[in-house]
Amino acid sequence: MPKKEGILVIAVTGTPGVGKTRFAGELSKAIGVKAVEVNDVVEGEKLFTGIDESGSKIVKMQELKKELKAIEVRASKSGDKAIILVGHLLADLKLEYDTSIVIRASLRELVSRLEERGYQKEKVRENLVSESIDYCGAQISGRSKEIYEAEDADQKAIVVSYLKALVSGKHPEKPNLPSINKMEEMLELVYEGNSYGL
Ligand code: ADP
Ligand code: MG
Repeated sequence: MPKKEGILVIAVTGTPGVGKTRFAGELSKAIGVKAVEVNDVVEGEKLFTGIDESGSKIVKMQELKKELKAIEVRASKSGDKAIILVGHLLADLKLEYDTSIVIRASLRELVSRLEERGYQKEKVRENLVSESIDYCGAQISGRSKEIYEAEDADQKAIVVSYLKALVSGKHPEKPNLPSINKMEEMLELVYEGNSYGL
């Protein structure tokens, strides 16, 4: 099912800290397809104008979109059958993807990972809200031919074997993965009290 340019574009997205990079590394190894970290492209090509109050880069989204398009075209011309793009920013870019995987994680796990990264309270809060409402999944829908959510190891393994078959030119049955809902965990955090103003 490759697109016009003949390359299958796989997007791995999700809230910062959910495990995109780790999953994409495993996927890349398993299916023999290169993974491109959007954050590395932003950094490498200096596609940002500055840093906001919470410490996040202010990204030149139009230029990033063009650069990722160019990377796709180059990969396609060099004969690659697929490319894996990785990053939370993919959800906000006006790009189109063949298959998107939205990596999900427990909100409590996310808090500890983001605190470990030294994120400020406001940034942790922002990301908790994003994860609980599935911001990335909602944003990427409509720009991806298919979307799968994966949180536990089994779900990730199902996505990997599906993509492995797809990339090798087979016509695998689409995996039947559940839609993941974080509202219950969010409410628990709200009711038990938390230091994130939720
Ligand atoms: P992202 O790229 O979405 O920001 P990372 O892949 O960098 O997330 O993962 C964030 C942190 O969580 C890392 O320390 C990583 O080792 C850990 N992590 C990611 N996936 C898992 C997993 N399946 N099991 C345990 N730890 C994980
Ligand atoms: Mg990452």
